[in-house]
Amino acid sequence: MGEIAFIGLGNMGSGMSANLVKAGHAVHAFDLNAEAVAKAVEAGAKGAASIAEAVASADAVVTMLPAGKHVLEVYFGEAGIAAHAVPGTLFLDCSTIAVEAAREASGKASEAGFAMVDAPVSGGVAAAAGGTLTFMVGGEASAFERAEPILDAMGKTIVHAGAAGNGQVAKIANNMLLGISMIATCEAFSLAEKLGLDAQTFFDISSKASGQNWSMTSYCPAPGPVPTAPSNNDYEPGFAVDMMLKDLRLASGAADAAKADTRFGKLAAEIYEQLSADGKGGKDFSVIMRELS
Ligand code: NAD
Repeated sequence: MGEIAFIGLGNMGSGMSANLVKAGHAVHAFDLNAEAVAKAVEAGAKGAASIAEAVASADAVVTMLPAGKHVLEVYFGEAGIAAHAVPGTLFLDCSTIAVEAAREASGKASEAGFAMVDAPVSGGVAAAAGGTLTFMVGGEASAFERAEPILDAMGKTIVHAGAAGNGQVAKIANNMLLGISMIATCEAFSLAEKLGLDAQTFFDISSKASGQNWSMTSYCPAPGPVPTAPSNNDYEPGFAVDMMLKDLRLASGAADAAKADTRFGKLAAEIYEQLSADGKGGKDFSVIMRELS
């Protein structure tokens, strides 16, 4: 098993790096937050005091950072990965960032002589800890082949989505659809209930009819029909409003750049923006149901 530098040991990265350790990799862990490094060391990683130290003997670097600006700085800043990694090191960025930023990072990596994949994830903190994430991967086929066994230790489904940035494209297009379908599902339950049809009966009918969708059948926003859904737990996340808002903003920006008409996606972003402004950013994204009741 190879040596891996892991940078960004937050909610997601801590579980992911622990799974690389479990799979037998030597993991060199770095984060700006010393407590996060200490937690990774407890899980079997070797703590590093800088990016340079983390990447010194690594065959691959995995990053799990908040946004594109952090990714570009961590890879290509003066004290960054590209300046210190051994030639031939593979770069895997698993953060959710703008498509444009992912393509810029891939281009810069290539100029510096490194192969890079964007490999954003579907699945939250529990899937990161359990090693059951889905990875959507953009990059050259040869880089994907090298990345796959590493991602395999952290996830259960790994899909090559095509060229650099296409992992991020898959992620934001999917999550835009999820945001829209959640709002539409909430509206349908609200309409049915206000017209005298209870949630369970509507669920029994619509989940077998043409309105059927994942937001309804796996994550029902109306309390009752799906016991494991956040709607039965005071809309505790799950997947928070602010995380959905981040992805919808990325989708909206990418749609403008590509001149794609995504009116529903933009309306969904406005609706989540309002929820967040009302102080509900930390609630599950299905909380819209309660707003409509
Ligand atoms: P987080 O804020 O918990 O973790 C990010 C970590 O990066 C922090 O520990 C922070 O200290 C570290 N960091 C920031 N800048 C750094 C730098 N310059 N050098 C070293 N470390 C640095 O975030 P998270 O919830 O783990 O999410 C990470 C990424 O995964 C985001 O892009 C997010 O959109 C994506 N994502 C999150 C979830 C989720 O459920 N949390 C689900 C899917 C995708």
